[in-house]
Parts: sequence; structure tokens; C-alpha cells
Amino acid sequence: MKVHKHDAIIIGAGGAGLMAALYASKGGADVAVVSKLYPTRSHTGAAQGGIGAALGNLDEDKPIYHTYDTVKGGDYLTDQAAAKILAENAVDAVIELEHMGLPFDRTSEKRISQRRFGGHTSNFGEQLVRRACHAADRTGHMILQTLYQQCIKNEVKFFDEFQVIDMIVVDGVCAGVIAIELGSGDYHIFHGKASFFATGGWGRCWSVTSNAHALTGDGAAIALRRGVPLQDMEFFQFHPTGIYRMGILITEGVRGEGGVLINSQGERFMERYAPSAKDLASRDVVSRAIYLETRAGRSIKNRGYVHLDVRPQTVNRYFAEEGRDRADFIDDATVERKLPDILDFCRTYLGVDPVHEPMPVQPTAHYAMGGIPTNVEAQVIIDAAGTVMPGAYAAGETACVSVHGANRLGTNSLVDLVVFGRRGGMCIAEFVKGADWAALPNDAGAEIQAEFERIRGGSGKSRPGELRAKMQETMMDNVGVFRTEETMRQGLDDLAELRERFYRDLRIDDKSRVFNTDLMEAWELGCLLDLADVTARTALERKESRGAHSREDYQARDDENYLAHSLISHDGNLAEPSYAVNLDKKVDLSLWEAEVAQGLPEDQQKFRPKERVY
Ligand SMILES: Cc1cc2nc3c(=O)[nH]c(=O)nc-3n(C[C@H](O)[C@H](O)[C@H](O)COP(=O)(O)OP(=O)(O)OC[C@H]3O[C@@H](n4cnc5c(N)ncnc54)[C@H](O)[C@@H]3O)c2cc1C
Repeated sequence: MKVHKHDAIIIGAGGAGLMAALYASKGGADVAVVSKLYPTRSHTGAAQGGIGAALGNLDEDKPIYHTYDTVKGGDYLTDQAAAKILAENAVDAVIELEHMGLPFDRTSEKRISQRRFGGHTSNFGEQLVRRACHAADRTGHMILQTLYQQCIKNEVKFFDEFQVIDMIVVDGVCAGVIAIELGSGDYHIFHGKASFFATGGWGRCWSVTSNAHALTGDGAAIALRRGVPLQDMEFFQFHPTGIYRMGILITEGVRGEGGVLINSQGERFMERYAPSAKDLASRDVVSRAIYLETRAGRSIKNRGYVHLDVRPQTVNRYFAEEGRDRADFIDDATVERKLPDILDFCRTYLGVDPVHEPMPVQPTAHYAMGGIPTNVEAQVIIDAAGTVMPGAYAAGETACVSVHGANRLGTNSLVDLVVFGRRGGMCIAEFVKGADWAALPNDAGAEIQAEFERIRGGSGKSRPGELRAKMQETMMDNVGVFRTEETMRQGLDDLAELRERFYRDLRIDDKSRVFNTDLMEAWELGCLLDLADVTARTALERKESRGAHSREDYQARDDENYLAHSLISHDGNLAEPSYAVNLDKKVDLSLWEAEVAQGLPEDQQKFRPKERVY
């Protein structure tokens, strides 16, 4: 096997990976980025709506308000000190992106333009605030292009279309990773002082998802199998507005511009579920409302979808009812200018023109709040006490620094990437200066190579495509927006049967080495099966409803017993793993504790976990 030696190995070239690569290289480290996709094809490029930062360009705003919204949006499972770092660092991170050349939309005074997004408010929940900085509805695309250019300028070395398949852990220290070069099928060892996982999410566990085909959670599954427990895996966000049946995302920015959700009776039903935030209530609330409307027989044509209406005549009618300033009213040209990609998707995939017709939407599996646990320097931690695994780092959607708690606010993922990608990159630059090289074991890569040969040789009857579709269906039906003990047990039984077939009865047709997508997709299915399994297991363990985890058999939030992070670990046995789940990791409540220490009366304690009505 060919061995590559670099101070820092960054796995993944989305926003988190590129930001880390940029900062590690700026700090003097020799950096290699290993990515299964060509960097600018990473899912960060699909992010539409915006990146949140309390710049206050259009409304009065402060990082502490952003912190409050992040904690409250996460249903108090958010680590409060981390949320404060997120909100404070967001401001200069966005300005820095602008200085790197990111073409943000502008206000008439030439400042960065901002729009409303669900759950973002000023003055501790008083009113919605314009906080999301955007470049039309292509914000993520612009971030990715900008960061990629900066990395090239900084001479970061890229290994494109190299897929990482294992992590090398020697005596508890991460010494690098094993990858397959997709174009040749050759195995490579990447030996590094620091390995940074930024491999993105795993929406592909569910059948209706906004996530790209490549989002199979490889990094999280690899870490799990090599002894890193995963944190808060039961929390997976369903975005309320995916295109009916296809799952393609319609950004919350549509509702930020005034779009409303309408049921089969022509009613703006969010007025009933969330009288003040209405259509811009947080995503879990809106997704559940769509399901409840469907159950009550009020979905359009009784098919499980509702309408998202951004036609100027509808929007302006509601604006007038709300007494909004006439300057806020929109016309066809506003919709065309502010939402060009959304119009394009709907016209292309649906034959629906949102300027003249409403869009059919349903909840779509969107974002993993849980993942590889880290501290605020992006160092991977392996237990409830916060013990660091030397040499291992993670950030972005695959990680869980817990700024999103039980439910992420829109625009906060892009912030997470740039803020914790940057902190991780800086931390790595310092670490590699002093750290020694961990020696590679003689048999590095042998185990995973054998597993690949097993998959390649599979001559049973079960094809990966069939197993994947069954997994996605059972996850959608049983571990989706609403859950009960019964549905989750059903999900786990189904997953056990699928795992059995995956390990004992697999068949793949393509036995070749060059660009063998059959082989890679089969291996990715194994990752998805592990992540689906830990999602259902942790969800079963959490007997309460909180954020995106909504149980019909335990409808209330239970802070007494469950105001804690879950950690689930795997014993490393691929075919028949056994798992351990615990809820020992404390939530950081330091902002609230500081308020208590200052002697503030209860009604002025902003960060105190407060009751929420479901
Ligand atoms: C349609 C859509 C719209 C969104 N809109 C917004 C928004 O407006 N605002 C917001 O804040 N968030 C938004 N999000 C969420 C946000 O975009 C993602 O959470 C974020 O971009 C994830 O970034 P990342 O850097 O963690 O990973 P990604 O951008 O997903 O990149 C993952 C990288 O890892 C690499 N990789 C994966 N597996 C391997 C492997 N085994 N070996 C080597 N490389 C690997 C891939 O090649 C890729 O480069 C949106 C998400 C979607 C799906």
C-alpha cells in the first residue's frame, strides 16, 4: 500500500473540511485534503438560505440574542458555552468570508443583506430578526467556491476521489486513515499527526431526504467502529418543505420572504400551531404540524403534502393583514431575484411555476444534530468526561460539538462549519508543531481490505439497492417525525434482518477495480445500516419528546431525567455488533448558571430551560 505522510489529513472537502484545511495551512502545517467527491461537489454547495450572524445590518441584533435562539431552538440540549462561541465568532467569520471574496447580496447602503429565518429573534424572543446573510439562494455554493480558491492559493494538497474507509488507531491515538483511490481501486495509507473528520451527514438513511446521494455518514460510522461513541444520534431534523416525493429542499428562505403553508381547506394552518412565529416556527414544530394536518385529513388531495405559497398576491394579502410596511410587499420580480434556484428546481422537476402556483411540499430528512462528539476546539472526545483522543478532530455535520442540541436552527449549520472548522484548523496547526508521529502498525489496513474483498466477492441473493430501499422505508415509517416504542422496535427488527442479509447474503455484480461504484455503494450501505441502528437505539432509550425527537408515547419534555446527551458505542464487531448507550454526558448550562450566580430572579434567567408546549 502506498503511504502518504502529512502533518494534517483532512477528510472531506465541504465547508468544514476546507475551512480547517485553510487555517491549518495558514498556521504552517503541511495539509492534505482527502475527498470522495471533487471538492466543489460537496453538499455545502447545496445550502441555499443563508448563514446566520448578528451583524445587525437591517435590524438591531447582538450575538447574545443569537446565542439565546440557538439554545432555545435546541430545546435546551445545546451546550451553552459552545453556542456563545458560535454566535460571537459568526460575526467575524462572515466578514472574513466577505474579505475572501464571497459575493453576498447587499442592502441599498452596500452592507451585507440579511433575511429572516425560523427561530431567529431579537431581544430574547421578542420579534423575528433579519440575521441570515445570503448570496441569493446559493449561499453554500458561494462559500464552497470561495474556500476552495483560498485553499488552492495556500497550496493545500488535494486527493480528490479518494474515499476514506477506515481510521488507524494505535494505543488510543489516531495515526491516520486508510483510503481507496476510486479511479484505480488501490488502497492508500494516509499517515498524519492529526486527522480531521468533516464527512457530512447521513440523510440517506431515510427515503425522502434533501441530502445528496453521497451523504452516507462514512466518517461517523468509521469512528464508531473504531471506538469513538456517537453523541445525540436520536436527533435528526426533518425539514418541513421538501418537494413532494422527491425530498429536494425548498429553502426556509421562501417563508423568510413571506411564503405561507396552506392546507386543503385553503387555511394558513401554522397560525393555529404557532400563533406568533407562524410559518417561521422552528422546523420540528412545522414538520409535526404538516403531519398532524395530514392525519386530520387536511393534506392536499389526501396525499400527505401541503402547499407552500409564495405568490405575491398571497404574500401581500397576509402582509397587509399583519399591518406590515408597504415597502416589504413583494412582486414577481422580487421572487425571481431572491429565489432563482428554487424557481428553477420547481420549474424543472415539477413543471410548477412558484410565481403563479403554490409548491407541493412534505417533510424531508435533512440534518444530523448528533455525531462524533468534540470539544470546542474540534478535538474528538471519547467519553462523558470529555477525554480527548489524541490526533482525532471533527467538525461540521458529522460532528457534535452540540451547538444544535435537539434541533438545529436554519442558517446555523453554515456558521458551525466556518466557526468550528476554523477553530479546529488553528488547533491542529499548534498541535502538529509539538506532536510526535505515532508509529503505524505493520498490518495497517489489512482488516478493512479483507472486508472489501468480502463485499466484492459477495455471491448471495441480496443486492445492496434492495437492502438500501428497505432500510430507508423502515426508517421513514418507524424512526421519522413521530416515534413510539412499537414503531422503533419494528424499525430495529427490520434493521437486524437487513444487517443479516448484508453480511451473509450480499451480491454485487461488478467485480472490477476501476470506479467500482457498486462496491463503494455496498460499503456505504454498511455505514448507513450502523447509523440507522444507533439512531433507533438511542431514540428508544430517550423516553421524552425534545426538539426533533418526538414520541407519541412520551409527549412531554422531561428535564428531570433526560436533560443530558446520549452516547452510544459499538464493540467493533461489524456483523453482530453489541451496543452500549448511556445518558451520562452533562449538558453545559453555564450561561444559565452564571445568571443564577448573579442572583437574577427566575423571570430574568434567559437561559433557564423553560417548559415548551408540544
Ligand atoms: C439542500 C440543503 C440545503 C441546506 N441549506 C442550508 C442553509 O441554507 N444554511 C445552513 O446553515 N445549512 C444548510 N444546510 C445544511 C448544511 O449545508 C450542511 O449541514 C453542511 O453543508 C455540511 O457541511 P460539511 O462540511 O459538514 O459536509 P459536506 O459539505 O456534506 O461535505 C462532506 C465532504 O466529505 C467528503 N466525504 C464524505 N465521505 C467521505 C469519505 N468516506 N472519504 C473521503 N471523503 C468523504 C465528501 O467528498 C465531501 O467533500 C443545507 C443542507 C442541504 C442538504
